[in-house]
Amino acid sequence: MLMPNFSYARPRSLKEAIQQLSSEGATLHAGGTDLLGCLRDEIFGAKKVVSISSLNDLRGIRVTKDGRLRIGALTTVTEVANNQMIQQRYPALSKAASEVASPQLRNQGTIGGNLCQKPRCWYYRGEFHCLRKGGDRCYASHGENEFHCIFGSGGICYIVHPSDIAPALVAHDASVRVVGPKDARWVDVAKFFLLPSDDVRRETVLKPNEIVTEILLPVPMQGLRSSSRKIRARRSWDFALAGVALVLRFNDDRVQSAHVVLSGAAPIPWRSRGVEEAITGSRLDSDTVARAAEAAVKNAEPLEQNRYKVSLFRGLLEEELSAIAKI
Ligand SMILES: Cc1cc2nc3c(=O)[nH]c(=O)nc-3n(C[C@H](O)[C@H](O)[C@H](O)COP(=O)(O)OP(=O)(O)OC[C@H]3O[C@@H](n4cnc5c(N)ncnc54)[C@H](O)[C@@H]3O)c2cc1C
Ligand code: SF4
Repeated sequence: MLMPNFSYARPRSLKEAIQQLSSEGATLHAGGTDLLGCLRDEIFGAKKVVSISSLNDLRGIRVTKDGRLRIGALTTVTEVANNQMIQQRYPALSKAASEVASPQLRNQGTIGGNLCQKPRCWYYRGEFHCLRKGGDRCYASHGENEFHCIFGSGGICYIVHPSDIAPALVAHDASVRVVGPKDARWVDVAKFFLLPSDDVRRETVLKPNEIVTEILLPVPMQGLRSSSRKIRARRSWDFALAGVALVLRFNDDRVQSAHVVLSGAAPIPWRSRGVEEAITGSRLDSDTVARAAEAAVKNAEPLEQNRYKVSLFRGLLEEELSAIAKI
């Protein structure tokens, strides 16, 4: 398939980029690994592609004066995975980043683009004019749905959130800075993504002329342990069938607070409050772990072809909670 025609702009400042993006049919280009495929396959169109690759202020990883970690939106996924400070202070994030796609895609793809990438539902990526593209039905609900969600569809759209990095950021309580024509705001990553019941046409709270400029991670508290795990069909560049990011704070051997976020489970990174409640205040002994793993799937609503995800998540939680107890 040939790439459709569009004009191309490479602004030199953030202000100019936002101005360029404010014209009708403009779309933002970072590393292009997702965007160019979407344009080529005509999943959506663009009159103008606005590349932000010259905005060097949006690159790099640094510690702020008050000890938090700032990651520029144009920082590549490889840089996030290989950064020593992230490996030491936010292991769930570095592990998640190291498992994104292939080395080539990690070198080209940016962390901002990873958060804003489009869903991978094969109907959406194919020639089906489904609800998410403005059509009148979901083809996955009674179709080929083995890779779709078991939580959060609202009976509307069954995508799973595609990013491996986003669940780790939610678990670490990160926020993103969003800059638009009038102002800039900080949004918790946990509130950045939209459920189908919020708006089935949009995946994030971003308006068309808003740009994610940076990601901020809080100073890790004393007693914090974190991990992440991704299960995929083959050991290649596949997206997650099931995954989990854990950020737990321990007081001696008891869990004092917990952030447990599932991937491959729901249209957004899915915070599992059931697991968090089951482990908070307890030691991670085998009874607690078994109870927590059961709680993870208690309200699951599998489709005809993805029932296997229920036992997959149960087993995943059992293994990961047992492993983090021994760190
Ligand atoms: C074959 C393949 C396999 C993959 N496997 C995985 C995987 O296993 N796990 C995983 O997590 N990801 C996976 N990905 C997705 C990949 O990680 C993303 O394509 C990449 O991170 C996107 O970054 P980019 O800079 O290339 O974004 P682009 O392609 O440039 O942009 C992607 C989207 O985000 C928007 N966008 C980009 N940057 C910003 C910003 N700063 N502010 C606002 N909007 C923005 C763009 O407008 C566009 O809609 C895979 C992709 C491919 C093609
Ligand atoms: S799951 Fe969502 S993206 Fe996929 S066909 Fe249904 S409405 Fe479209």
